[in-house]
Amino acid sequence: MARIFVLTLWLIIAVTMRHIAEAKEWSLLQAPTEIQQRLIRDPLSISLASTDYGHIIHQNPTAIFAPISVTDISNLIQFSNSLPIPFGIAARGQAHSVHGQSMARDGVVVNMTALREGRGVVVVADGGALGRPYADVGGEEIWIDVLHAALKRGLTPLSWTDYLYLSVGGTLSNAGISGQTFLFGPQISNVHELHVITGKGERVTCSTDNNKELFYAVLGGLGQFGIITRARIALGPAPTRVKWLRLLYNNFTEFSGDQEHLIAINGRNETIGANYVEGFLLLNKPPLDLSFYPEADKPRITSLVTQYGIIYIIELVKYYDNTTQHHVHEDVALLVQGLKFVPTFMFEKDVSYEEFLNRVHFDELALRSQGLWEVPHPWLNLFVPRSRISDVDEGVFKAIMLKQNINPGIVIVYPVNRSKWDDNMSAVTPNEDIFYVVSILRATNFDKLEAFEAQNQQILQFCEDNGIGMKQYLPQNKTHEEWMLHFGPKWTLFKQRKQEFDPRNILSPGQGIFN
Ligand code: FAD
Repeated sequence: MARIFVLTLWLIIAVTMRHIAEAKEWSLLQAPTEIQQRLIRDPLSISLASTDYGHIIHQNPTAIFAPISVTDISNLIQFSNSLPIPFGIAARGQAHSVHGQSMARDGVVVNMTALREGRGVVVVADGGALGRPYADVGGEEIWIDVLHAALKRGLTPLSWTDYLYLSVGGTLSNAGISGQTFLFGPQISNVHELHVITGKGERVTCSTDNNKELFYAVLGGLGQFGIITRARIALGPAPTRVKWLRLLYNNFTEFSGDQEHLIAINGRNETIGANYVEGFLLLNKPPLDLSFYPEADKPRITSLVTQYGIIYIIELVKYYDNTTQHHVHEDVALLVQGLKFVPTFMFEKDVSYEEFLNRVHFDELALRSQGLWEVPHPWLNLFVPRSRISDVDEGVFKAIMLKQNINPGIVIVYPVNRSKWDDNMSAVTPNEDIFYVVSILRATNFDKLEAFEAQNQQILQFCEDNGIGMKQYLPQNKTHEEWMLHFGPKWTLFKQRKQEFDPRNILSPGQGIFN
């Protein structure tokens, strides 16, 4: 009897879903001409929009929308709002999400890159009325192009991601973090103003002084409140070169202690501090990526990893230019003085500022050439409170990742200062002054994907069982209860803002928060 009931229920749900999908598809065909002419529905385009960098989730939209103007996007959102059953709309920047966040099942994916032509990046070097240099940038632009435009004027954005082929709208919808975050905060802390089209189709300019509720909602808002069409990004003077260092540790406490020391120096004395601090692990799971290190040193690094199982690496950078070149050696010496890395295991490169910022692109080119870029990416990104990071070292790095026969990929670990984040924004962080970014980034074949996903689950379960109090960055796969837990005290406000700016739950359905 119970089985018949469940089967009937499933049948009703399936039929209803099918009817809703058909109703949405039919409605799209009734769209005004100016919308129709920007819709693309060929199978290849649909199939491209149904996947992302993760290659884990696949959701077919009914159509892709290629806007030429911001008005086109506003028209599309207003049209969806006009229907009895609105269709979901997802802005797609570079689709470098890994869990379907930029998809819209049975809805419309807005190809933001279609907007790019003729808009570009406008650098205002004298800062105009703002009095500080900035760049006005389309939400669809990618950060490498922002860098190039700023560098032409001797300027640069202050806060970065490790990889620059991500869209401005995409990273501002999350946070945008890297080794500069401890100093300047995430990218969302370095925005003066946004142009947004809300879930009601309204075009709004917002900042901390003007429509501030929308401004705060959108930054770190996972695309839930509006589509960013323009952002005013803070700029500062650009260095020309960097000293790029890696220091190897065989002890986690000394590694994290030194990282925290390094991110504290700038608070005391900015001129002697590092400009970038990250860190990562080298687990004894060959093949090891030792491409950074001189050929002659690779054997002794390999022995160190074999001896200790895990080696922890601080990556730090000191910027310089013509005016500071003559004392950069002393600056670096001062910076590493007293640090507890394994003696003689400090390695240094001297590269241009752009080469350093764009470093992941070189890895991308290498991986692409080996056919290892367009593969599944079961990534897991966590923010761990400082007080529990050594538990993560013991319980996750050593007890799970080192023991299991699964390639650990790249494991990034570095602390940031919470004071550089604005709690009014939608992004969530642990509730401690310092928290650690822990990014477990790996690539695999389809046949091994399940094992990787299982290990990610095991890591999340460890965190839950041990009350680690971490927050997921680029969060994924959550039930309603899990989303409430994720946002914690911010959930009520997040929901209120959704009600205000996207009351019919149209935007970014791929995040799976309100649908
Ligand atoms: P998409 O995947 O296209 O979209 C992501 C979400 O934002 C979706 O919900 C989408 O609907 C929404 N969205 C997209 N554009 C807009 C817009 N204009 N307005 C409103 N909402 C929008 N992140 C870091 O913080 N630091 C890193 O160092 C870092 N390194 C990375 C390296 C690689 C190789 C990859 C693949 C990702 C990395 N990320 C990093 C993660 C990245 O920041 C996010 O996945 C980001 O969302 C990617 O931008 P995108 O343009 O591809 O966004």
